[in-house]
Amino acid sequence: MGTDMKEGKTISGRDKPLRGLRGKIQFNQQLCVACRTCEHVCAGNAIRIVEARNGSGLNFILWHNTCAFCGLCEHYCPTKAIHLTEDYHTTHLQEDKYNFLERGFIQYVPCACCGKPMVPVSRELLALAYGDAEDVAHLARLCEKCRPGSTLRKG
Ligand code: SF4
Ligand code: SF4
Repeated sequence: MGTDMKEGKTISGRDKPLRGLRGKIQFNQQLCVACRTCEHVCAGNAIRIVEARNGSGLNFILWHNTCAFCGLCEHYCPTKAIHLTEDYHTTHLQEDKYNFLERGFIQYVPCACCGKPMVPVSRELLALAYGDAEDVAHLARLCEKCRPGSTLRKG
């Protein structure tokens, strides 16, 4: 049973979660650029990012039952694609422990210049990084090798 440190009350029985509670992780595949930082820093070894068998993209998998709610993934994610929610409903049956997952799929797209499969950059992420995404929208369709050349040509 958890305790509200500020009010000295138990969490159970509340209608609303406590503000600032470190609860269940949520993943937004639209913002993820597959940098794998979260996988690297994860204290609970709860995150895996693996290429799909058919090579069409990357599977993001997070096992809630091994998450330690440390918040390192949220802290270090450069694009705000992963965060702790205030949802504390994480109890589950023993038989479901390996199925209690947060999943995502990052579909590769072909580079507009060389055709190499690449992790796309969403308009949502461009807007987050640059505000007005129109000026840099063309960069989202280029792989990391073609992007610098395009930037130089535009400049
Ligand atoms: S909160 Fe910590 S343990 Fe949980 S997924 Fe993020 S880095 Fe891993
Ligand atoms: S969730 Fe964030 S830290 Fe993890 S791979 Fe995606 S962009 Fe990188």
